[in-house]
Amino acid sequence: MSITPLMPVYPRCDVRPVRGEHCHLISEDGRRFLDFASGIAVNALGHSHPGLIAAIQQQAATLMHVSNLYGSPQGEQLARRLVDLTFADTVFFTNSGAEAVECAIKTARAYHQSAGSDRFEIITFNNAFHGRTLGTISASNQDKMHKGFLPLLPGFRYVEFNDLEAAKAAIGPQTAGFLVEPIQGEGGIRIADQAFLQGLRALCDEHDLLLLLDEVQSGVGRSGTFYAYEQYGIVPDVLATAKGIGGGFPLGACLASEKAARGMVAGAHGSTYGGNPLGMAAGNAVLDVIGDEAFLADVRTKGERLRSRIEQFLGNYPELFDSVRGRGLFIGLKLKVEPRGFVAHMRDNHGLLTVSAGDNVVRIVPPLVIDDSHMDEFMEKLSAAAATYQPAVAA
Ligand code: PLP
Repeated sequence: MSITPLMPVYPRCDVRPVRGEHCHLISEDGRRFLDFASGIAVNALGHSHPGLIAAIQQQAATLMHVSNLYGSPQGEQLARRLVDLTFADTVFFTNSGAEAVECAIKTARAYHQSAGSDRFEIITFNNAFHGRTLGTISASNQDKMHKGFLPLLPGFRYVEFNDLEAAKAAIGPQTAGFLVEPIQGEGGIRIADQAFLQGLRALCDEHDLLLLLDEVQSGVGRSGTFYAYEQYGIVPDVLATAKGIGGGFPLGACLASEKAARGMVAGAHGSTYGGNPLGMAAGNAVLDVIGDEAFLADVRTKGERLRSRIEQFLGNYPELFDSVRGRGLFIGLKLKVEPRGFVAHMRDNHGLLTVSAGDNVVRIVPPLVIDDSHMDEFMEKLSAAAATYQPAVAA
């Protein structure tokens, strides 16, 4: 038998982390890495955060799981805090980002179908990433995720990101809403234009469609505000969140306004583990830190400082670096070469973890709790890596 016990769907590298210490990871063979990947924008509080550990330990010792057939004081507390922090009136908890997006899609269909309409189609945008379930791969135009898994779920139409006219032209009698990342993560830290998101909001209002935001990657402080939509002067009808909200504990949520959630009645949706007390404890511990305006202001300041330091440095290697972009600590470094080789070089030869993304971008997504010493260490490692890199293949 040649297949590995772990199903070989990930091209795993040789680094085998066994311990996390604040903004660093330590591998099985004792190497120490500066972690500016954060489990792909998950470990917002870094590793081994005392508040998060204590909350999970205490809840694990008290009550780990009960069914959603019972009342949930822990869930009510976290949902209330999310409602108070956002546009939302109600929250459904999930265990992952894809499940949160699935819930958002179902909420949009139910919004229309509970009112006697048969609208079901969701307009999504090129290069989006919404997850790996059948529904969420169908919501993305990316063929590489479809290959081998056909047929796709019907009910999605793809148009160009940031093209408001194309979005408008795609609206038809079956359209239920738009699903969009305000900042595309996997797509390469591509930022939605203000006029684009405001235009989608206006189209939704005009045609009675729902605006579904996928903030699984951009949310929970990553972009410098609690959710990125706050920077656009709009509110969504439904929002999918995950990753940072559990700080490393598997947790997601679908947030909705009361109007948008009109079809999500008793028996309409469910999850065995969604909203379990352990996840709620983790989410509450994360919000204790990130749900604070002073903390978010600090993320914005650190993000601007880090981005400008990278910007100033880029000119030293014009053949390697193109530009830097992003919001808060959601930063994309666009290369002139294919990024995976450089990400591997930084990791293997300079102890620096980052993540590649679309559009030749290296994603720089550190824990939100970094300080100046981590930025200094990052710049030193980036600089050393650039000085020693010899790209194998030009982009
Ligand atoms: N949506 C976005 C924008 C994401 O970045 C991701 C994951 O990277 C997902 C959805 C899927 O989340 P999960 O992997 O937790 O299912």
